[in-house]
Order: sequence, then C-alpha cells, then structure tokens
Amino acid sequence: MIRFEQVSKTYPGGHQALQKISFHIEAGEMAFLTGHSGAGKSTLLKLISIMERPSVGHVFINGHDLSAIGPRKVPYVRRDIGMIFQNHRLLKENSVFDNVALPLVIEGYGLKEIRKRVHTALDKVGLLDKERYYPHMLSGGEQQRVGIARAVVNTPPILLADEPTGNLDPKLSLDIMRLFEDFNSVGTSVLIATHDLGLIARMKYRTLTLKKGRMAEDGLTDNGHGEL
Ligand code: ADP
Ligand code: ADP
Repeated sequence: MIRFEQVSKTYPGGHQALQKISFHIEAGEMAFLTGHSGAGKSTLLKLISIMERPSVGHVFINGHDLSAIGPRKVPYVRRDIGMIFQNHRLLKENSVFDNVALPLVIEGYGLKEIRKRVHTALDKVGLLDKERYYPHMLSGGEQQRVGIARAVVNTPPILLADEPTGNLDPKLSLDIMRLFEDFNSVGTSVLIATHDLGLIARMKYRTLTLKKGRMAEDGLTDNGHGEL
C-alpha cells in the first residue's frame, strides 16, 4: 500500500531530511512513526501525500510510483489518502458539517450524497449531534475528531496522522488511538507520526523509528503486557 525504496530527501539549501529510507506498509496495516523532533517524520508523511517529492528513490502508493505521476494526476492519488494534523486545521467560520463536507464539495459530490457521507463520518467519531456547531464551541478532543471525520469522509484506504494527539491529555489521546484502531479494523492502512513514546508503548503496533533522517529501527514495540 505504501512502499519506500531507497528514498532520500534533500531540501533546497542542502539539508538532508531523509536518507535511504526503505519500508513497506501493507494494506490494512497500522503502524507508528516516531523519532525526535527534526528526525524527518513530517517529511516522510509529506512524501506520501505528495506535498514534497523525493530527491532520490521511489515512493509507491497503491502501486503508483509517485515520481512518475504528473501534476494533473496528483489529486487522483491524493484521494486515496486521509490526512490528520496536530492542530486539526478546521475552518473557524464553517460549521462542523461544512468542515467535514469540504473534501466532498471539492470533488463535486451532490448534496444528498454529501449529507449521507458526512453523517456516516460524524457518526463514526461520535459527533453526529454536533454537526451545526462551530469549531470554537467544541473541546480540543472533539475538534480533533472533526478533523478525523473530514479525513475519512471519502473513505480513503490510507490514513496519515501527524502528531494527532500533540495537544491532548493522555486519556483523550488514547480515545483518538482507539478511533484509529476502529478504522484500521475495517481495512484502512494507518500510519501515525508521534513522539509520544508512552502512547506507543500502550499499544502494540509496528513502530518505525527515525534518527536524524535514517531508519534506526523497524519493529514491534512490546511492553510485555500487551494492550491495556
Ligand atoms: P520531524 O517531523 O521529525 O520533526 P521534519 O520532517 O519536520 O522532522 O524535519 C526534518 C528536517 O528537515 C529538520 O532538520 C527540518 O529543519 C528540515 N526541514 C523540514 N522542512 C524543511 C523545509 N521546507 N526546508 C528546509 N528544511 C526543512
Ligand atoms: P433542516 O434545516 O430542516 O434540517 P436542511 O435542508 O437545512 O433542513 O438540512 C438537512 C440536513 O442537512 C440536516 O441533517 C442538516 O443538519 C444537514 N446540514 C447541515 N448543514 C448543512 C449545510 N451547510 N449544507 C447542507 N446540509 C447541511
């Protein structure tokens, strides 16, 4: 589903953010991506969502070699990817409904289909009763769940999250992780970048560890107790 082959990324100015990264995340897999600040986590996610391009090597999504696709094909590949951000990036002036509907509006869906899909997505994150609220009326955890609903509203096979629990307390963070597990349990591939090692230790998933742009470790974190 996501494959990196000897990928390096050098930013203009010469900073090498990633060096010779290779890994494969299969369809339906859930994994963490960790490492210190500056290790290259965001860069790696940006290469998957085609916000950045590799300097060397290849990134494949769903069999498509991203270095071979032209600008006009980018939106089609991006459709397969739901992105979740630390600060959720909701539009303040828009209702919950409209925030979640946005990706479908951009894709030109009809209103009836939009309503159906938005309601399904809000139901999944437990916010069906708040569709008319505005972001400032919601708690931090609820705002993050709206961001997740928006990311899954067009049912992409891949979910990417960049520090999704960065602003949340441990209890809410675990709730968000359970939500990712729910999507993973119905076949969605999930890759979560986080430096929250405590959170990772409480779950039992493959963990890719970046150190100064290199893949330092790729394996299962096991705290010996399994899940909580
Ligand atoms: P992380 O997400 O693990 O904190 P990043 O991928 O954001 O790491 O950054 C990796 C390295 O690349 C850092 O040293 C950062 O300063 C550098 N970097 C990130 N984005 C850019 C950019 N647009 N231009 C130049 N350097 C960048
Ligand atoms: P009513 O206001 O009587 O519920 P609407 O046609 O306004 O009828 O809404 C129909 C459904 O669409 C409701 O579930 C409503 O909550 C939902 N909805 C909310 N906001 C919007 C929006 N901006 N665009 C479309 N539908 C919306």
